[in-house]
Amino acid sequence: MLVRRIALGLVVLLVIMVSPAWAEEGEGPVRYDNYRLVRIYLDDWNQVQQIHDLGGLLMSDTEGVGKRPTDYLLPPEAVPVLELLDVSYVVLNDNIQRDIDAERARLETEIQRDPNDPNWFFDYKNYDQVNAKLYKMQNDRPDLATVLNLGTSQQGRQIYGIRITGPGGNKPGVQFNGGHHAREWISVMVPMWIADKLVYNYDTDPTIHSLVDQLEFFIIPIVNVDGYVYSWTNDRMWRKNRRPPPPGYSCYGVDDNRNYDANFGGPGSSGYPCDETYRGPYAFSEPETAAMRNFTIARPNIVVTHSYHSYSQLVMSPYGYTSALPADHDWFIALDQAMHDAIYAVHQMQYDYGPIYSTIYQVSGGDVDWYYDARNIFAFVTELRDTGTYGFLLPPDQIVPTCEENFAAAIVLAQWAATPIKFSFPSGLPSRLTPGVPEPVQVKIIALGGTIDPNSPRLFTRSLSGVPFTESVLTPLGGNLYQATLPATICGRTLQYYFSAASTGGLTGYSPADAPTTTYQVQALPIVTILDKNMDTNPGWTAQSLWAWGQPTGGGGEYGGPDPTSGHTGTKVYGYNLNGDYENNLPEKHLTTTAINCSGKTGVRLSFWRWLGVEQPLYDHAYLRISNNGSTWYNVWQNPTTIYDGAWVYQEFDISSWADNKPVVYLRWTMGPTDGGWRYCGWNIDDVKVWAPDPNGCPPVPGDMNCDGELSFGDINPFVMALTNPAGYQQQYPDCDINHGDVNGNGTFGFDDINPFVALFTK
Ligand SMILES: [Zn+2]
Repeated sequence: MLVRRIALGLVVLLVIMVSPAWAEEGEGPVRYDNYRLVRIYLDDWNQVQQIHDLGGLLMSDTEGVGKRPTDYLLPPEAVPVLELLDVSYVVLNDNIQRDIDAERARLETEIQRDPNDPNWFFDYKNYDQVNAKLYKMQNDRPDLATVLNLGTSQQGRQIYGIRITGPGGNKPGVQFNGGHHAREWISVMVPMWIADKLVYNYDTDPTIHSLVDQLEFFIIPIVNVDGYVYSWTNDRMWRKNRRPPPPGYSCYGVDDNRNYDANFGGPGSSGYPCDETYRGPYAFSEPETAAMRNFTIARPNIVVTHSYHSYSQLVMSPYGYTSALPADHDWFIALDQAMHDAIYAVHQMQYDYGPIYSTIYQVSGGDVDWYYDARNIFAFVTELRDTGTYGFLLPPDQIVPTCEENFAAAIVLAQWAATPIKFSFPSGLPSRLTPGVPEPVQVKIIALGGTIDPNSPRLFTRSLSGVPFTESVLTPLGGNLYQATLPATICGRTLQYYFSAASTGGLTGYSPADAPTTTYQVQALPIVTILDKNMDTNPGWTAQSLWAWGQPTGGGGEYGGPDPTSGHTGTKVYGYNLNGDYENNLPEKHLTTTAINCSGKTGVRLSFWRWLGVEQPLYDHAYLRISNNGSTWYNVWQNPTTIYDGAWVYQEFDISSWADNKPVVYLRWTMGPTDGGWRYCGWNIDDVKVWAPDPNGCPPVPGDMNCDGELSFGDINPFVMALTNPAGYQQQYPDCDINHGDVNGNGTFGFDDINPFVALFTK
């Protein structure tokens, strides 16, 4: 141990003497001869400090321990010391300077391209070239594009952006940012590509045309302009801005993406000015981040932002500073995944996705968290190509493919932003209404970049086509949740309905988005029961060992008690180990029903009550499966996580895709395989029902004179005919029952049914 410390001390001293990272503005290019790009698996923060002491320059966008490796650039002298540090590592590049030199030579011979050259994206572009292209776009399409000046950097450069939008006003805003970190050159090219496509494909691409008309795009390709210039002129591996060293230090620069006011100063940022993640003296201390803040605050219509970084291939969303999930996590994760899918579809390139905190490491002071917390803006960050083979020195032939795949994701995000009032249904929408019974529906409503007026949400319903919708107010349940109540609906009728809500900023949205052109529809129908087993008598199913019919005992309850001592109804259940905890280390054991006949049934559903304990989702499983032949089984459900019910729980499943019109359907409950360790109560099943809506279950519809199964305006003429010319009616509607006209129910059809018939159309 003593030897190791001495060796480390010597090398640290040596490394500090040759460290290149502190170059000042006027010095020549910083060289990294024989510097290794090394991927290191770190287990604790002492090791992180040791890597810093060795002169390790952080190459990943964030650093941390335990979860995933971090990339560093290490002086050649430092690499042998890694052997002493008891860390595992992989050398990704054994001489980064060789690749820097090759890139420099290539860029010096790259012809000066006109900003409108379609091959502009064939290689990286410096600050002046980027700005020239922004002005070129404005000159070419002044009707669409306006160059923006967000402010002045630390060293007096202008931070330019571009606004792109079609005719009209009062539109949601979408913002794309690049170049927070200087060396991440591909992060400048992607927003430039987005701007280029929006401007130059507006006339030819209907999707782009529509989005540019519906939205106001703001694109800021280089946030950290000083650092970006410095990465071209002096130090290719420069990350931060160019703030001069604070008193007592010799290190330049603040990490602009740790300088936002989102848990500023917290973990995942550094207070040490020589660190790559130095956050600066206070939130928004840097002119670049202050300009970004002011820009967004001045544009309250901005609903979505997306910032680009490199490298690692990740699509991420809040939070970075905490493991807590944002209130809108369901939307974030759905969009993360949608963008992942869009990216993958273009060049089959894999980008992982999820919250920043769990996908990489904790980050405090990042822009996405500030956008979301302070402005209620849906904010995303993408780490672009690659995964470390080239890192920041991404070869030029990967620029266009990287832009193409991320443009696809940007379109997905823009389309989502175009309707900024979002509705979701945490418990789903009903597949059937019980006739005559109101149906509660929970609705979650948010306004991107804004706030929902809590008095605004409305439900619109009607059960006859052609009549006006009836409007009702949704009840606020707190947070973003509201309660709607679908009205009691006459058996056989189809209820059409939609929702609306408005933001305090005056934007109105609908669900479905194009309502009332389209609406949700659900029919009020009774059910027909296909299977109903309350377990009070043994249903005679096939039970492998440990599954048994009987009364549960409450068990030996070694872990996780109480276990059930009777059924959900009655005393008996089917249970996996009626005596309590399930057995360890057994293969899967099944409980299988006899064949169920679902012929002639559509919309088949299964419900049952369960009392389930699953100790460990990695090793132990509870499955619900279905089969049409008893040999090929499909998973309907499996436990997503550790479950300990501790009470009877209702479960209901749509099994229509396996059961509708099938003469043979088997259901199967399976436990196992299980590993060692502690044990929960197993699985108790009670009150199993299989049922389907019954389209023939409604009594005749009063007033349905054309006998199409529902009351509609098409019934008015036959009603009049039946009254005035019964014989002609029977001739024209031979299969219809004239007594459907007995709307007042007095047993005969006559003129006293006219007023009740008319009244039907006002219900
Ligand atoms: Zn970055």
